[in-house]
Amino acid sequence: MAEDNHAIGIDLGTTYSCVATWQADHVEILVNDHGNRTTRSYVTFTDSKMLVGDEAFNQAGRFPTNSIFDAKRLIGRRFSDETVQSDIKRWPFKVIRGEADKPMIVIKHKGQEKLFAAEDISSMVLAKMREIAEAFHCSKISEKKAVITVPSYFNDSQRQATLKAGKLAGLNVLRIINEPTAAAIAYGIDKKAGWFKKRNVMIFDWGGGTLDVSLLTIGHGVFDVKATAGDTHLGGEDLDNRMVNYCIEEFKTKQNVDIGGDAKALRKVKIACEKAKKALSFSFDTGIEIDSWYKGEDFHTTFTRDKFEELNMDIFNKCMEPVNKCLEDAKMDISEVDDVVLVGGSSRIPKVQELLQEVFKGKELCKSINPDEAVAYGAAVQAAALSGNVTGKLQDFTLLDVTPLSLGIESGKDGSSELFMNVVIPRNSRIPVRMTKTVTTRYDYQESVKFPIYEGENRIARDNNFLGEFTLHGIPPAPRHVPKFNVYFDMDANRVLSVSAEDMSTGQKKGIKINGDRTKN
Ligand code: AMP
Repeated sequence: MAEDNHAIGIDLGTTYSCVATWQADHVEILVNDHGNRTTRSYVTFTDSKMLVGDEAFNQAGRFPTNSIFDAKRLIGRRFSDETVQSDIKRWPFKVIRGEADKPMIVIKHKGQEKLFAAEDISSMVLAKMREIAEAFHCSKISEKKAVITVPSYFNDSQRQATLKAGKLAGLNVLRIINEPTAAAIAYGIDKKAGWFKKRNVMIFDWGGGTLDVSLLTIGHGVFDVKATAGDTHLGGEDLDNRMVNYCIEEFKTKQNVDIGGDAKALRKVKIACEKAKKALSFSFDTGIEIDSWYKGEDFHTTFTRDKFEELNMDIFNKCMEPVNKCLEDAKMDISEVDDVVLVGGSSRIPKVQELLQEVFKGKELCKSINPDEAVAYGAAVQAAALSGNVTGKLQDFTLLDVTPLSLGIESGKDGSSELFMNVVIPRNSRIPVRMTKTVTTRYDYQESVKFPIYEGENRIARDNNFLGEFTLHGIPPAPRHVPKFNVYFDMDANRVLSVSAEDMSTGQKKGIKINGDRTKN
């Protein structure tokens, strides 16, 4: 195979992934070995080999406890996280607590038990996407250049773990970008809006596992993110799970059969429910038929759209929260939003579209871009721009992004043991950004001060995501509140955060660099 220099864009999804490349002045969505434009984010260990993608999904029924999916729901999280604990209960594969509270997936392969971190599984999916691209380009290189997308609301650990997965897959990760931003690029190029009049665009991106909402102003080649909000644990899978539980209960009531935690039976119902859910986006009722579901018993039921909506109404309503939050943060009125663009498979659901239209007082929603491919499309454009492989209009392409989560230090109040989050950079600040805060001591004659750094919106510091810490020693003796320290937070365009503190009386300075999702320069 020949060497090549094409950069690729990868949408690493919870349920499906998609890869694209910029070629001859346009984006190509690459087709996998099964002829599909999106690939199941699945890894299955059979008795003899490891399968990845659609083949892994097809074989999952035979090896339910050895078929891994939803790695994105685990990546960068702690085993003790509430969401991890609830997900584990419904997964047929085993997850245990590893070192430092890291969740580890357990599989049995060739008679041996093996442990994998979520990023290991994601790296296998990424390697599959890389192979698809290599087949298209008829090339194989040791480090293929790639841009990988993540939900904009992913925190630093989730981004770091995704980056690690990319490196493990032999990719030279040029940058990790946010999914809705990538979708906006696709929309801008499709509509040619990116190069003409300025437009305010809301991207509503609802996929299999996450919801992402972003507001951007696009025009003259500049994609300017104004605000972003979302939920990293709210997606189509949650709807499937509600339907699954409903079917299990009905089976229990009607036929007096309890499938318990049987992995094969769970998989059968999960597939049937996802299929029915998709059908309900286009028809008003559909049948769920599972022959020989469990202990030889068949199961048949009818699902109406009304029943589906009733079962999931709270989830649909929850989807509107980030929409409102995003408008508020961007200080934008609904009348100022020119286009509301639907992205992600779950955005096809009529009820969600209806609620979204209600928020925007009946505004027509944009369904012109392919909801399954837009993210990979935008990532491919960004990859080409970053690798200098573009000509014409794309040379003017500029992306201005924001911090999705607030960044700050832990501080205490006098007389209280509660340590709260002292925000230095509020969420949705334009990056690169530099902000400063002055803090002081809490106790008389304090000799040292610790600066723990967090990201997140919780008032209590330790409920947020811990990023790192450093300590200033040798503080001249003084009563509390007298010493003054300037704390500087600096985030560059690649999301590398540098935090330093300066003792104003001595000029002593110390700091720490927190490597965001950025890779090599
Ligand atoms: P994505 O992560 O964007 O690939 O979205 C995948 C999710 O979209 C999965 O949960 C799918 O079940 C869901 N999905 C795909 N097509 C439809 C549809 N027609 N109606 C409802 N959900 C869908």
